Amino acid sequence: MKTKKPLRQLNLAVPSQEKPVTDFLTASGTFQDGDLLLNKQGLRLISDASSSQTPDVKDMDMQFTMEDFEIVKVIGKGSGGVVQLVRHKFLGTLFALKGIQMNIQETVRKQIVQEIKINQASQCPHIVVCYHSFYHNGIISLVLEYMDRGSLADIIKQVKTILEPYLAVLCKQVLKGLVYLHHERHVIHRDIKPSNLLVNHKGEVKITDFGVSAVLASSMGQRDTFVGTYNYMAPERISGGSYDYKSDIWSLGLVILECAIGYFPYTLTDIDDGPLSFYELLQSIVEQPPPRAPSDQFSPEFCSFISACIQKDPILRMSSLELLSHPFIKKFEDKDVDLGILFGSLDPPVNLVGYVAA
Ligand code: ATP
Ligand code: MG
Repeated sequence: MKTKKPLRQLNLAVPSQEKPVTDFLTASGTFQDGDLLLNKQGLRLISDASSSQTPDVKDMDMQFTMEDFEIVKVIGKGSGGVVQLVRHKFLGTLFALKGIQMNIQETVRKQIVQEIKINQASQCPHIVVCYHSFYHNGIISLVLEYMDRGSLADIIKQVKTILEPYLAVLCKQVLKGLVYLHHERHVIHRDIKPSNLLVNHKGEVKITDFGVSAVLASSMGQRDTFVGTYNYMAPERISGGSYDYKSDIWSLGLVILECAIGYFPYTLTDIDDGPLSFYELLQSIVEQPPPRAPSDQFSPEFCSFISACIQKDPILRMSSLELLSHPFIKKFEDKDVDLGILFGSLDPPVNLVGYVAA
């Protein structure tokens, strides 16, 4: 058994929201004074964005450029590039700026930016908002809503396991995001995993990276090329078969089970032997019976929820809509479980790579 790691004190100063007077005029030609915003689109009245870390800037047709942002620090690193915390120079608003490095023709890159824009025009509170995407210096940049508690991967590194009531509340939010993607947008996420479920101090949980991997793969003429982890892939997908929305449900089931038991469900008996190789993983997922929640440690509702998600035959898996009314989700609905308390009591994400000199 792994021992619980001591919580690290990172002593990160909350970035100042103050802005120099000289920064009223931005590189994109926008001028702000108090609630008044003047740019190419004309004069607008905006809410006081600088008073909150996650202001409602959804309706603002901002024309962001790189010059409008100052980098605060690096907050994460994925297979495609780094994610930085940035502050809009004159709004004072914090965003996550995700850079994706691609070694392909410029015209193709521009198409990708366009497609990501369309894909990310989300109208769901459980999907991370992508405010803007642009191409700059060989890198595709996405301006994302900043989720100040990082990802579920960061959370489980700290707490090791999450109790059922919290899991039910967390899962309900992810399911709402999936219902939006599956039933309203008719798309498969394709990469549901702990690092793509982001959280904030208010206890909100949101799905991110929706559409990014699919667009990148198809734009490069490799529709089924996958970059990232295979750990959460459904059997029909990892074995190269056709797959649908239900493959996201398999992934969700594995993520929730991992949060409950404290380790990735497909693992060697001896944890010190490290993760399975791709072949071992493929073999386990495809040939072995699916993982289950141990019934002596978890409630019948939880065990039933997990097995409703982790069915090898996708037809037997429940849909996101059906799972929203599963007894496990319903059980804690009127119990006033506050995820904000769980997330708020933790250190800031521990995967901070470092500061970038201002
Ligand atoms: P992969 O690239 O293999 O899919 P990943 O999902 O970890 O892995 P990224 O999507 O680049 O890679 O994200 C890297 C990390 O940056 C995340 O794990 C998360 O901690 C952080 N991060 C990403 N987006 C945001 C955001 N909008 N707000 C706050 N933190 C973020
Ligand atoms: Mg990601």
